[in-house]
Amino acid sequence: MSATKYIFVTGGVTSSLGKGIISASLAKLLQSRGYSVTIQKLDPYINVDPGTLNPYEHGECYVTEDGAETDLDLGHYERFINIPTSQANNVTTGRIYQTVINKERKGDYLGKTVQVIPHITDEIKRNIKLLGVKNNYDVVITEIGGTVGDIESLPYIEAVRQLKWELGAQNSLFIHLTLVPYLSASGELKTKPTQHSVKVMLENGIQPDILVLRTEHPLNQDIKKKVALFCNVDIESVVKSIDVSTIYEVPLLMKEEKLDTTVLKKLGLPENEEPKLVKWTQFIDRLKNPKKEITVGLIGKYVELPDSYKSIMESFVHAGSINECKVNVKCIHSEKVTDENASELLKGIHGIVVAPGFGQRGIEGKISAVKYARENNIPFLGICLGMQCAVIEFARNVLNLKDADSSEMSRTTKNPVIDLMEEQKGVTEKGGTMRLGTYPCEIKKNSKVFKAYNTQEIQERHRHRYEFNNDYLEQFEKAGMIAVGHNLDTGLVEIIELPEHRWFVGVQFHPEYKSTVVNPHPIFVNFVGEICKDQPEK
Ligand code: GLN
Repeated sequence: MSATKYIFVTGGVTSSLGKGIISASLAKLLQSRGYSVTIQKLDPYINVDPGTLNPYEHGECYVTEDGAETDLDLGHYERFINIPTSQANNVTTGRIYQTVINKERKGDYLGKTVQVIPHITDEIKRNIKLLGVKNNYDVVITEIGGTVGDIESLPYIEAVRQLKWELGAQNSLFIHLTLVPYLSASGELKTKPTQHSVKVMLENGIQPDILVLRTEHPLNQDIKKKVALFCNVDIESVVKSIDVSTIYEVPLLMKEEKLDTTVLKKLGLPENEEPKLVKWTQFIDRLKNPKKEITVGLIGKYVELPDSYKSIMESFVHAGSINECKVNVKCIHSEKVTDENASELLKGIHGIVVAPGFGQRGIEGKISAVKYARENNIPFLGICLGMQCAVIEFARNVLNLKDADSSEMSRTTKNPVIDLMEEQKGVTEKGGTMRLGTYPCEIKKNSKVFKAYNTQEIQERHRHRYEFNNDYLEQFEKAGMIAVGHNLDTGLVEIIELPEHRWFVGVQFHPEYKSTVVNPHPIFVNFVGEICKDQPEK
């Protein structure tokens, strides 16, 4: 008998049904009933982690406190339940195979043939159970990436099928998400894809306990009855999930559908108190009734896929709500911006954010956007590469070091104002080798960021190889760009500001990874607050 209860979330019919949001919403509801919950994502690809993936492939790479490069769903988990995740919360097929193959090389399997069943499935099960045991969670929700029927997810489905029996009755359950499409020609909602998807689950030996039906149209009791009848579940276990204007409404929707109480009943856990969600509802009320409206320009090179900047987008939602201001984020392709067209392209924009990124493409456009923000006193936030661009721009246009660059972009520049970190110099492998995760930073008191954080000691998450070149620090500070945040152990510049400017901040770290609904990030809150100051109320 295990103390921790396990919930497995699978998806059928199509991808992008929002398994991550449903998992996070359920976690939120259970948490607000007093249970300790965490969420884990199993990803079926062979990459050991998404750190080496181009954002166009898989959206943003989310970095945890312990420096794991993970799937963007972990960002949703943290934003909803407000507790940090870790490497253990994201397991990929690549990582599973790597561990099994390393064990095989060590001779740990004692001459046995190493196979998908039992060796790969055992390793998957070990990773699922480890999370519950290590931290003593009441409930672990495990989201299985991909769609049932995919070749890639088969070992995961088999592993959780086995686990259900090993854990014993009432210790685990399956939630299966499907789509109920609307056929406008016949004016009908269709349940057949759901029936087929449940059949695929049954072929794999799994009877889903709860079905969550994604739908764009209201779904009546008759449809629920039909699904219950064909898919061997009771009607309370058929949950509707209709499209809503913000993902943050999904927990309230799931509460209305009683997903949490159905889950608790099936797991044999007491219902405890009704979830209050006071802060949560307040957040949504403010989000839906803003008094002001602003537009922020996000300059990046992956803007065709907004998921590439997921955490930044969400941080603006959080900061907007607390400032009672609707923040429109206008994504602008960095390759399109030049010194000449910046004023035209950035017309009507109240604040400029230059996004993180890697490599040469789009860099000159980012630098032009910085120049425009600096010269026109427009509130500016540079994140990681965005901060580095602010440094390069200042070097070129204020210090008059015309060839100033980052050594990431130019190996031959005589003025590498951004340079490779010392500890990176011998690094040749790409995977998991950047400066990753949480590091402390000390802030100077007379700075904009001090006003934002209201403390001198902060901890922020990182993902970079290059840094401000301290050989130039004196020159920069004399000319008005000040390093206001440092890592005291290494002397690395973490934050730069222009005190003469209205609000011009560059951060080497990623504040967006730490912004949550109940704890919006101070930098985003302050940035939006500054812009809002001179906007009229609606
Ligand atoms: N490419 C830069 C570096 O490695 C910035 C990275 C980032 O923006 N995350 O330092």
